[in-house]
Amino acid sequence: MSALRPNPPMAMLAELTHRCPLACPYCSNPLELERKERELTTDEWKDIFSQAAEMGVLHVHFSGGEPASRRDLEEMVAHARDVGLYTNLITSGIGLNKRRLDALNECGLDHVQLSLQGVDSEMADWVGGYKGGFDRKMQVAEWIGEIGFPLTLNAVMHKKNFDRLDETIAIALDMGARRLEVATVQFHGWAAKNRAALMPTREQAKQARLTVNAARERLEGVLVIDYVPADHHSDYPKPCMGGWASTGINVAPDGAVLPCHAAHTIKSLTFDKAHEKPLKEIWYDSDAFNAFRGFDWMQEPCRSCELKTKDFGGCRCQAMAIAGDAAATDPVCIKSPLHGELVRQAEADAEADADLVYRVMPT
Ligand code: SF4
Ligand code: SF4
Repeated sequence: MSALRPNPPMAMLAELTHRCPLACPYCSNPLELERKERELTTDEWKDIFSQAAEMGVLHVHFSGGEPASRRDLEEMVAHARDVGLYTNLITSGIGLNKRRLDALNECGLDHVQLSLQGVDSEMADWVGGYKGGFDRKMQVAEWIGEIGFPLTLNAVMHKKNFDRLDETIAIALDMGARRLEVATVQFHGWAAKNRAALMPTREQAKQARLTVNAARERLEGVLVIDYVPADHHSDYPKPCMGGWASTGINVAPDGAVLPCHAAHTIKSLTFDKAHEKPLKEIWYDSDAFNAFRGFDWMQEPCRSCELKTKDFGGCRCQAMAIAGDAAATDPVCIKSPLHGELVRQAEADAEADADLVYRVMPT
C-alpha cells in the first residue's frame, strides 16, 4: 500500500442508526449514541451508496444499531443493489418479520448476518437485555432459512459464555448457517465499560482456540468458522482493519466517515461528513484518513520491526485507549513497554465478578 495513493475501499459499513431494541453490554457503538433526529435521510444514504459504487466499493454492510429500526431499510437495499453493490444485512433479527424479510428478498438482499446473544433464552435475554428476544430470533432464523438467504451467524464470546462455545457451534449448524463468526469481545464502545464483566480468562481463550480448531476439522465443507481471538491474551496484535484506511470505510448514523467504527475515540482527528463532502475526497485526501497510512507515522519499536507490513502496528484505537497516543505501538504487542500493564489489567478483569452495564439510548 502506498502512503500517497491507496486503493479504493472494498467494503462500506453503513451504520444506519444507533437505535436498537437490544442493550448488549458489548455493543461496539459509542457511549454517546446518536438520536433519531440526527440520522441521515433516505436520500442522503442513497447518494452515499451511489458514490461508493462509483469509487469502487464492492460490498455494503447495513448495520447499526439495528438497521431494521429504519423503516426505509428496504428502499436503501434496493438502491444499493441497483447501483451494483453486494448487500449484507447485519441484524439481531428483532424488528424483522416475515413480511419485511420477503420484501428485502424482493429488493435483492444478498446475505444476512444474524447476531446471537446466547445459546438459550435465559442467557440470550439476559445478555441482550430484552425479554423474549431469543425466541423471536429463532423464528427469524427459520424465516431466513425458508427464504434461502445465505446466513452467517455472529457470536460475540466473553467470560460469561465462552464455556458454551460447543453449543454455539451447534446452533449455527441447526440454523443452516454457512459461516459462524466466533468473535471474542473487542473492548471498544460499551464493551470498554464492561471489561470487568466480560474479559475472558487466559484459559478460556486457550480452550476456545482448541474448540474452534477441532470444529473446523470436523465441519470442513459444512460450516466455515471465522475466529477473532482474544487480543488481551495474545503476544502480537491483529492487523486491525488490514491497516488504517486501507480496505474499509464506515459511515456513522450522522454521516461521519470513519476508517473503523471506533476511530471517533481519536479526538485529535476530525472526521468529515458524507453528506457534506464527496466520499472520494474524504477517502483519498482527508487528514484523518491519511493519518496512519503507510509507515512514516510509526514510532519505535514498530518503525524498525520486520512485522510492520503484516500487522501495521496493531489497532490505533487501542493504542489511543491504553497508551493515550494513537501512533504508539498497540499495547497488545509484547514489544510495547505497556504490554505488561495490559496483561496485568486483563488478568484482574478476568478474575473480577462484575455486573453487566447495559447499552442505553439517550432519552
Ligand atoms: S450489539 Fe446488541 S445492542 Fe449493539 S447494535 Fe448489536 S444487537 Fe444492538
Ligand atoms: S512492534 Fe509494532 S510492528 Fe512489530 S510486532 Fe509489535 S505491533 Fe507489530
